[in-house]
Amino acid sequence: MAYRIAVLPGDGIGTEVVPQAIRVLDKIAEKYGHQFEYNQGLIGGAAIDATGHPLPEETLGLCYNSDAVLLGAIGGPKWDNLPTHLRPEVGALLPLRKELGLYANIRPCRMYSALADASTLKKEVLEGTDMVVIRELTGGMYFGPKGRETVDGVERAWDTMLYSTPEIERIVRLAFEAARKRTRKEVCSVDKANVLEASRLWRETAIRVAADYPDVTLTHMYVDNAAMQLVRNPRQFDVVVTENTFGDILTDQASMLSASLGMLPSASIGGNVALYEPAHGSAPDIAGQKKANPLATILSTAMMLEYSFNLVTEARAIEDAVEKVLSKGFRTGDIMEAGKTLVNTEEMTDRVLEELA
Ligand code: NAD
Repeated sequence: MAYRIAVLPGDGIGTEVVPQAIRVLDKIAEKYGHQFEYNQGLIGGAAIDATGHPLPEETLGLCYNSDAVLLGAIGGPKWDNLPTHLRPEVGALLPLRKELGLYANIRPCRMYSALADASTLKKEVLEGTDMVVIRELTGGMYFGPKGRETVDGVERAWDTMLYSTPEIERIVRLAFEAARKRTRKEVCSVDKANVLEASRLWRETAIRVAADYPDVTLTHMYVDNAAMQLVRNPRQFDVVVTENTFGDILTDQASMLSASLGMLPSASIGGNVALYEPAHGSAPDIAGQKKANPLATILSTAMMLEYSFNLVTEARAIEDAVEKVLSKGFRTGDIMEAGKTLVNTEEMTDRVLEELA
């Protein structure tokens, strides 16, 4: 079967890791007899430079007309001082998610046993960690009313955490459905209901939705406690569901449970076309140096195969190949430890391709 994939490499290491993921998809196509049609589009700083806008209409059209979207990363210092609406993340990423109706971001976060010593956290703390964080993606403070004004010579600015019941209900439901497919069947809803009105609505809604899922256990945790518990005892979590801003912060923190941001894939779903991207940004500090870990993007394509194309065997083949490469001791700089073999972006992919072959 043929699948159309919109490919948006973006900026910085996005342009380095996306071609590696495509090499892996090509190997899967060859091995399992599929056809992947890639159509490249501009996004982020690269799109600003070429067209003056971070999300050109043409790119949006390309995404609408594809079966899935593979995104690298966007942004960088060159574009940091543009007006807010033109900045890559605000001008491209947020509207792209909104336009495609991608209200849920799914980030599996597990400890790879081969990387147990590569994390900054202790092995005993990490062992057995296997969770999924589900973050609401199109509501909350990033999209609520915002503004800036000067009153009597004093500048002030505000962002508003705004949520409606349907917005909360659909993401919480998605978390319950995800938990149902897992062994432990537990959902931890993270909020700040002791302080925020939006969180109180979040919690009431979660409790109401839970009644439809008697086989799943629902617990609640305040976000400040959740941040602490994630590094104290990450094993306690199965499925975590939370609002946009809290999720943004907690998922970066959770990335360290897998040793590096460079290991963490993500899927954004909810509309007709889903988007797959590594959890990391454009990493200007290492861009152009062949140091980027391509595994987060490669693992994101595994999620694409599973969630968008229902190619579960193929997805598992990629995940197994990554696991084997790590257990054979190959490491990019971000997960390097003494006694292991340092490889660059392309060489890491070569090893994955060898395992797939
Ligand atoms: P970042 O994720 O780009 O980098 C954080 C740190 O992790 C850096 O030290 C980087 O070298 C390292 N790192 C990240 N990915 C890696 C990989 N694959 N391999 C090895 N090391 C890796 O976050 P940042 O530095 O806060 O942001 C840089 C730029 O990226 C900013 O312009 C920001 O706005 C943008 N950004 C974009 C996205 C996105 O496109 N989805 C997400 C986050 C940040």
